Amino acid sequence: MMKYISTRSKQKNSMEGKNAAQAIIKGIAEDKGLFVPEKMPQPLSDISTLTGKKYKEIAYLVLSRFFEDYTEEDLQECIDCAYDEKFESDEIAPLVRGGDAYFLELFHGPTAAFKDMALSILPHLLTKALKKEKINNKIAILTATSGDTGKAALEGFADVEGTEIIVFYPHVGVSQVQERQMTVQTGNNVHVFGIKGNFDDAQAAVKAIFNDPSLAAELEQEGWQFSSANSINIGRLVPQVVYYVWAYVKLLEKGAIQPGEKINVVVPTGNFGNILASFYARELGVPVRKFICASNQNNVLTDFINTGVYDAKRKFYITSSPSMDILVSSNLERLLFHLSGNNGQLVASLMKDLDETRKFEASDNIRVGLTEFYGGFATEEETNEAIDELYQRDHYLMDPHTAVGYKVYADYVKKTGDKTPTVIAATASAYKFSETVVKALGLPSQIDGFKAITQLHQATGVSVPKGLQGLNEKPVLHKHVLEKTQIAEAVKHSLL
Ligand SMILES: *Cc1c(COP(=O)(O)O)cnc(C)c1O
Repeated sequence: MMKYISTRSKQKNSMEGKNAAQAIIKGIAEDKGLFVPEKMPQPLSDISTLTGKKYKEIAYLVLSRFFEDYTEEDLQECIDCAYDEKFESDEIAPLVRGGDAYFLELFHGPTAAFKDMALSILPHLLTKALKKEKINNKIAILTATSGDTGKAALEGFADVEGTEIIVFYPHVGVSQVQERQMTVQTGNNVHVFGIKGNFDDAQAAVKAIFNDPSLAAELEQEGWQFSSANSINIGRLVPQVVYYVWAYVKLLEKGAIQPGEKINVVVPTGNFGNILASFYARELGVPVRKFICASNQNNVLTDFINTGVYDAKRKFYITSSPSMDILVSSNLERLLFHLSGNNGQLVASLMKDLDETRKFEASDNIRVGLTEFYGGFATEEETNEAIDELYQRDHYLMDPHTAVGYKVYADYVKKTGDKTPTVIAATASAYKFSETVVKALGLPSQIDGFKAITQLHQATGVSVPKGLQGLNEKPVLHKHVLEKTQIAEAVKHSLL
């Protein structure tokens, strides 16, 4: 049975490993580390035999490797509930040619960004886990969001029995459409707060609440326990592995690669969850040559990959790809654990350095592992140029996050001449960031995000995702904006 241990655990073979259900419920380990598989699962026997399979079938193959304590019936039910008509594409995640690459479109879910891929299944995995573990507590889902996780978590958890969902987003920093998506959310168990701070502040506050034993005790008395919908939850990470296996199978079906041929993956990265999922996919047998990690102006990961030094002590930029405006990238901790040969003690000391000095330095074996990654970043201007260039050339419409990926990919090819077939994770619909895209395409500038949606539709004919239609006519239900110091109080107030 697969066990999950903390990235900071002291023994290599911890006796205290949790099963998947327990890890999903807890969200974060007691020592503040993140749950990781103690051993990676056996690779899928032969990926080239998976051609013709549906997304749900591949999802089952992947999830069953990681979540061995769930029965087949449990997992099938979760998968069926998640990947249904909520997605506007039958394929769930279509692979579309654009430029010299393939775009893995992860934005056809209800909130028009890739977070739906995992957050449409997490609530089902969690409620099953509670049943399996016979836990009667109600679960409070605390979520810090840089823009897209919040809405996807609200959509996923709204009115899910036994849960209450609380979302904190940076009041300045998310796009107008992103904010409105969250503030109009209906449901009897939803709470949405803007905070005066950036994503890192929101994430730090949420982590602090998780690690506050007195608050936990107070809430426990009232029958509450916390869990997380952020990508620190292993229940979010594993469903993201699915679409890298799927993409490889689609490339085979298209005849773009031969069985066993290596591919490159490009991931516009913020909290490092999505790109880490591609790393897990390789453990499952997807042949990946390079993991190309694309950042915006907040290029802390670019520097880390290139120098081995992680230095979050730098200027924070608010960019047009807000879901990547992150300086403390949570899931990197998991990569450090895997690259260091499951050395929890080392990871704990690096994370202590990060806490105390905002900085840490990779050990030699981590540096060796990092050579499989390529790190690059795109400025705001380069991102806009990329959107315009690919649209003019191919009529392929990218959102700013995806465009960061495309630009870094172009740089990589120029620098290395590497012509390996490449999958770029397309993480959001361009309509979520219409103001930016309209401007990038040289259309008359539009400050209003909703008007920009109409304008972009008229100019390109690309259909507007259902979840974004009529958004500006819905009543705003959540108006609170908090100081950072009020977050814990707001949590109590929401639950008690
Ligand atoms: C969350 C998000 C990202 C970054 O993904 P991570 O898993 O945090 O690295 C990139 N693009 C979009 C549109 C997102 O919503």
